[in-house]
Amino acid sequence: MTQVLVLNCGSSSIKYELFEMDEGRALASGLVERIGEAKSCLKQTSAECTSNPPSHVAEVAVPHHRQGIDMIRRVLSENASFDGGRHLVGIGHRVVHGGETFSRPTLIDDHVLAAIKGLIPLAPLHNPANLVGMEVARAAFPDVPQVAVFDTAYHQTLPRYAYHYAVPQDWYDSYHVRRYGFHGTSHQYVAKQLARHLGRPAGELNTIVLHLGNGCSASAIRGGVSVDTSMGLTPLEGLMMGTRCGDLDPAILIHMGKEAGMSLAALDAALNKQSGLKGLCGVNDMREVLAMEADGDGAANLAVEIFVYRIKKYIGAYHAVLGRLDAIAFTAGIGQHSPEIRARSCSDLESMGIAIDPALNTAAEPPICEIQTADSRVKVLVVSTDEELEIAQQTLACVRDDQ
Ligand code: ADP
Repeated sequence: MTQVLVLNCGSSSIKYELFEMDEGRALASGLVERIGEAKSCLKQTSAECTSNPPSHVAEVAVPHHRQGIDMIRRVLSENASFDGGRHLVGIGHRVVHGGETFSRPTLIDDHVLAAIKGLIPLAPLHNPANLVGMEVARAAFPDVPQVAVFDTAYHQTLPRYAYHYAVPQDWYDSYHVRRYGFHGTSHQYVAKQLARHLGRPAGELNTIVLHLGNGCSASAIRGGVSVDTSMGLTPLEGLMMGTRCGDLDPAILIHMGKEAGMSLAALDAALNKQSGLKGLCGVNDMREVLAMEADGDGAANLAVEIFVYRIKKYIGAYHAVLGRLDAIAFTAGIGQHSPEIRARSCSDLESMGIAIDPALNTAAEPPICEIQTADSRVKVLVVSTDEELEIAQQTLACVRDDQ
C-alpha cells in the first residue's frame, strides 16, 4: 500500500486528506479551522465518505498551526489504515504562488522554502500560511519527503503574449507583474479526466475548462498544455466570482481613489471581498442567488446575467485562441452542480458548434458526464474536480522521480 497525505494550510485553517494511491482512494480527510481563535474546531470525515457533512466535529483549542498538525497526526494514527504512517511515502502541500520560479511540483528543502518566502509579495495572504504549514509539517514528519505543488505551475506554459500586460516593461522586470493564473491543479486534473473519458491522448485535445466555484477561472488548453487563463497576477482577474469582481477597467480604482477617497486597503477589500455576486445582490452563494432570482429579485437577476455573460465571452475568446475546439468542461461547485448556469452560459452558441441537451444537462451525474446535443460539434462535459487527488498524484510522481 502506498499513501500520500495532502495538506492545504490557510492563515487560520489546515485541510488534510490521506490517499491510498494504488486506487486513488481517499482514506480520511478533515479540517482544523479557526486556528488561533478561542474556539478552534476539528472536523473529521471518515474513510469512503469525504463529502459533507463531516462525520465528527470537536471543539478544541488550537493556538498555532503546530498544534493543528499534531492534532492531524494524532487523528491519523487512530485510523487503522494509516498503520502508524508505515505506508506514507510523501506529503503534498498546496502552495498558492510559485511565481516564475516553480513550473512543476518540487521537493521541499531549505532553498525551496527560501524561494517560496521570496514570492510572498506576489501572494501576501497565502504564501506565508503555506510556508508555516510546510515548516511545521517537516518538523512533525521529519522522515517523510514533502513536496510543494503550486496553483500557478500549470499555467507557466502560457506564451509571452498571453502572460504579458501592456504596461511599462519595468513593471515586469522589477516587480514581476505578469499573468500567472491559478487553480492550476484543477485545470490540469480536469483536462486529464476529460482525455481519459473521451479515450484520446491529452496531447490531441483542445479544451476550455471553466472552474466555477467561489473563485472562478477559465483556461484554454491546447494539447494538454495551458495556453491562456483568466486569472492574472492575482486571483482577482477574469470571470466574475462570489465576492471578487473579475475583469475591470483599472482606471476605476483611480476614479474611486480620487472621487470617494478610498485607500488602497479599502479598494483591495472592496474588489476581493465585497464585489462579484455579493457586491451586486448581497449574497455570494450561487444557490441562494438563483433562488432569489427565481423569486423575482432584480438584483439577483442582474448578478446572474453578468455571471453567465462573462463566461460566454471567455468561451468565445478561448475558442478563437484555440482555433479548433474539441470540448468544454464545467467544474467546481457551480460548474458541477448548476444545470442552469451551464445552460445559460452556453445559450445561443450553436453557430460556434456548441449546444447543450437540456435533459442530459439536468441529469448530469458525477464524476464525468457529456451533456451536448447529438449534433453539437463541441463536446460539453460536467467533470468533478479533485484538486487534492491531483496534488497527491503529483507528489507521488515527484517523490518517485527523486528516487
Ligand atoms: P471553493 O471555490 O470554495 O472550493 P466550491 O467549488 O465548493 O468553492 O463552489 C462553491 C460555490 O458552488 C458556491 O457559490 C455554491 O453556491 C455553489 N454551488 C454548490 N452547489 C450548487 C448548486 N446545486 N447550484 C448552484 N450553485 C451551487
